[in-house]
Amino acid sequence: MKVWRTIAEVERGGGFVPTMGALHAGHLSLMETARRENDRVAISIFVNPLQFAPHEDLSRYPRPLERDLELAERAGADVAFVPSVVEMYPVEPTRILVPKVTDLWEGASRPGHFEGVATVVAKLFGIMGPERAYFGRKDLQQCAVIAKMVGDLSMPVTLRVCPTVRESDGLAMSSRNVYLSPEERAVAPRLFATISESANRISAGESVEDARHWAFSELESYGFHPDYVAAVSDIDLSIIEERQPNSSVIVAAKLGSTRLIDNVPIPERVSSSTARVSR
Ligand code: AMP
Repeated sequence: MKVWRTIAEVERGGGFVPTMGALHAGHLSLMETARRENDRVAISIFVNPLQFAPHEDLSRYPRPLERDLELAERAGADVAFVPSVVEMYPVEPTRILVPKVTDLWEGASRPGHFEGVATVVAKLFGIMGPERAYFGRKDLQQCAVIAKMVGDLSMPVTLRVCPTVRESDGLAMSSRNVYLSPEERAVAPRLFATISESANRISAGESVEDARHWAFSELESYGFHPDYVAAVSDIDLSIIEERQPNSSVIVAAKLGSTRLIDNVPIPERVSSSTARVSR
């Protein structure tokens, strides 16, 4: 597997999958999709300091580089761009500020986070010059932020949003799942189960507010500390008042010291037999 450590080495074009490493099946599914759609697939592995607040997990974020390179190669990546922080940001960088959508949810809970994300993705697009770039629906708001940036700045790249990959018990795969204790890991799948049921309730005609409140207290009863649970438009993450197409239930909740996020689409219609997720 070829590795580029400097911008000067990069050959532009092809499919591109930006990551922070600690790869799991979610990342690999993006690479597999990119493999099918492009002659050449590049990934990046860069733990971007700009998107971490001072109290967050930048220094302890997992960095198993050798393993990541093996997994990425097996998933069909041709090359990994693995720059140092100094290579990416030799001087105080120009920042990308995407308005409105970044004020909400993850943006409100993590001030500066999306400015860091938009800045690094813009820089990576500038370096890699991809035809297509692949992102996971797991980070729904991130997808909306990047889509707005690419549209507003007329960046010549096609965005592809890929489905969330889950563990067999429903927990969305995340590099941060390794922080969960065995007890927390056993409870963690309730996050997906709860927002799935909440989305199904909205589909079946329950009011958005009732479904949201139900999910909030359900999560608290399992020991989560929810930051937010909301029903939103997929496009701009604005709150929806009632069931509508292209909308999702989104959640962020702390379990112990680990903050988990997830989302599920609100089905457009649910038959009564599938209206509830079984326990
Ligand atoms: P990260 O390394 O966390 O920055 O994630 C890199 C890319 O992988 C982002 O586009 C994420 O949305 C995507 N991703 C992370 N987890 C998953 C998952 N469980 N399923 C699908 N995509 C994911």
